[in-house]
Parts: sequence; structure tokens; C-alpha cells
Amino acid sequence: MRYQSFLIKYAEIGIKGKNRNFFEESLVQQMKIALHRCEGKFRVYRFSGRVFVAVDSAHYDFDEVVGALQHVFGIVGICPMQIQDVIPYEELQEKVVQFFGEEYPEQTRKGLTFKVHCRRLAKNYPMDSQEINAALGEALLGAYPETAVDVHEPKVMVHVEIRERIYLYTHTIPGAGGLPVGSGGKAMLLLSGGIDSPVAGWMMARRGLKLDAVYFNAPPYTSERALQKVVDLAATVSAYTGPIYLHNINFTEIQLYIYEKCPHDELTIIMRRYMMRIAEAIARKTECGALITGESLGQVASQTMRSLECTNAVCTLPVFRPLIGNDKEEIIGISKKIGTYDTSILPYEDCCTIFVAKHPVTKPILDVIARHEHNLDEKIDEMVERALETDEVIIVDRDGRKN
Ligand code: ATP
Ligand code: MG
Repeated sequence: MRYQSFLIKYAEIGIKGKNRNFFEESLVQQMKIALHRCEGKFRVYRFSGRVFVAVDSAHYDFDEVVGALQHVFGIVGICPMQIQDVIPYEELQEKVVQFFGEEYPEQTRKGLTFKVHCRRLAKNYPMDSQEINAALGEALLGAYPETAVDVHEPKVMVHVEIRERIYLYTHTIPGAGGLPVGSGGKAMLLLSGGIDSPVAGWMMARRGLKLDAVYFNAPPYTSERALQKVVDLAATVSAYTGPIYLHNINFTEIQLYIYEKCPHDELTIIMRRYMMRIAEAIARKTECGALITGESLGQVASQTMRSLECTNAVCTLPVFRPLIGNDKEEIIGISKKIGTYDTSILPYEDCCTIFVAKHPVTKPILDVIARHEHNLDEKIDEMVERALETDEVIIVDRDGRKN
């Protein structure tokens, strides 16, 4: 087994002062959940202000473990470590030279620059860290003359930590960054079958939020396959967030009624206002502290500044729109990276695309919209109540629907 342990690097959570303990504990919990699915036995623990994963079994799948850790928000880097017993310097030197050669095989070594960084926490070790740095640097250059030392900007940092045992590592595999899921509370994602909303949910989860989701369904205008697409998107996102409670709301009656009673160029805005109202009602019931949407400024008529004013006006919870300043190409890039893109572009119809006007307003006026909503009279309130009663909670994890 080449690596017996992993050092976990985290950036932001290290600077949270008194909250540091809470953030580290959240991170450890999320890592345990992620590793639980991996073959092998692992121990996640905190030690002297850092987080480690120790491998406690004879076998494990390196790629599987790294893949699982790369789905944990809060981790900036994953350093696979080799552990030695505390050995005299001559033996240590041999081990380090061998380890370096394995980490950087011959074809990758030409022109490679490195620096040795020793930390000696076991103060009884007979050489100090400066001496070890110098001696190991020389030994590595002797063994691999095609490499060079660069103390300012080395490509490779050879870490040697001497504690109760000796830890060696040279690689840092990038993590997903952000803050541990749940450390910032929970929010309600308005999840459609499009490209944007799953990305928006992923981005806010990366900032430490646990996610619930709501989907507005319009049967028979939308099919069972459209719902399945949303479940599949939630499943992909849940590989990062843990299980998602997806609220499936029947929106048909409301949509038909708006279509009947309101000017067609204002349909989308008014529908979106009802979606926000219902999403907020569910969010309040489920203790979500915010709503999340995939809106991006100017992308469509309902996402201009004035349109957003109209949809925002019906909410009292904060509405997070992490994609507000992103171009579509950037959003597509993230969706490919997180694995939602291929599902998002499947062609099944969405409730918004069925009842759209040819020329929707791009500069709606809030008062006018509110006045036209009056046409809907008290019947709409009953419909909202009925829609809330249709709420079907689908529990989704990375393997799909659970209930
Ligand atoms: P997306 O790719 O997320 O579907 P979009 O560009 O199609 O976005 P709109 O249809 O205007 O944009 O919707 C804007 C936002 O409203 C979506 O990002 C999503 O958060 C929410 N939304 C739209 N339709 C639905 C729906 N049927 N169910 C739940 N949320 C929805
Ligand atoms: Mg959409």
C-alpha cells in the first residue's frame, strides 16, 4: 500500500476564530459520510489543528477514496501520505529518495524543481529540520540529477514530518473547496429540469448550505419523464450534499388559471411569483432560511432587473441567485464539471415552456403586475392551498429515489 494516510487541507474554515471547532467538526462528519461508501476501513480525526484520514484496512481503492473526498465541500487539498516508523536519518534518506522516485517517475522528472520542507515535532530526533532539509535536498539531487532545487517557487514540495511516526508527502490533489455542507444552515432550491438551477444549488451547497428542493410540475402538460429528469438532477447534486428532500408540487391548476385571467405577456412573471410564494411557504415549514434560484441577469425576459424586482417582491426570505453574474457558457462549464449537464439537456418539457407568451414583458412594473394579479381573486388562494396539499416529498440520494 503506497499511502497509509491522507492529510486534508482546508482554507477558509481555518480562519473562523471561535467557530473553527464547529467548522472542523462539520467537515469531519461530512468526510465520514463520504468515506462510509468506500471499500475499506478509514479513521477521520483531528490532530494539532489539522484533519487526517488514516487507512485502517489492508486494502482500499485509492481512486475511490480520493473521488469521495473530492465531493466533500470544505476540502481544498488532499495529500496522500506515506507513513514510516521513526528511523535513523540514513534510513529515512533512503526512504525519501525512493518515495520521490515513485511519486515522480523518470519521464516526469526532467527539469522538475523541488524543495524539502521538514517539520520536526519530535524534538528528540537527532537532526533539526534545517539540517534535514539540506541533507535530503542533496541526497535527492544526487539520486535524480535531472531535477533542480528551487527554494522560492518549487514545482514540488517534499514534506517530511517527524512526529510519533514520520509522514512523507509531495502531492496535493485539488478538492472542491467551499465550506462543509450544513455548516451554514439549510435552503430551498427551486429546481427545474434546466441547466441553471442544479448548478445554483451546487454553488450554494458549496458555501455550506444543506439543500431541500421544490419542483413545480404541470401534469398532464408535463410528463412523468420530466419529473424523472428532475429526480436525476437532484441525485447528481446529492452526491455532494447528501440526501435531498424534493417537494413535487402540482402547479397545473394555478398555471391554467393565470393563463385564463392575466395578460399573456405577463404570464411568466406572475407564474414565477406564485412559484416563489409556494416555495417560501414550504421553506418556512421545513426550516429553510433562504430560497435559491438559477436566475442569471438578462438571460430571459423574466430575469431582467425589473422582472427580478417583481418576483422578489413576494418573498420575505432572502433569495440567493448565485448565477446572477455568470454567462451561460460559464454555467454550462460548471454543469459539465459537476455532472448535471447531460441530464439537463434532455428534451423533456418544463411547465414554464408550455405556457409562454410570444412577447413576454421585459420591463414589468410591479404595481401593474400586482393589479393584474387581482383578477385572480380569492380563488387563487384556495388553489395555492390545494397546491401545497399536493406536496409529494421524494427523498433523493446519489442512487436516485429512495421512497
Ligand atoms: P433553469 O435552467 O434553472 O431551468 P431557466 O433559464 O430555464 O433556468 P427560468 O425557467 O426562467 O430559467 O427559471 C428561472 C428559475 O426559476 C430556475 O433557475 C429555477 O430556479 C426556477 N424554476 C423555473 N421553473 C421551475 C419549476 N418548474 N420548478 C421549480 N423551479 C423552477
Ligand atoms: Mg427552466
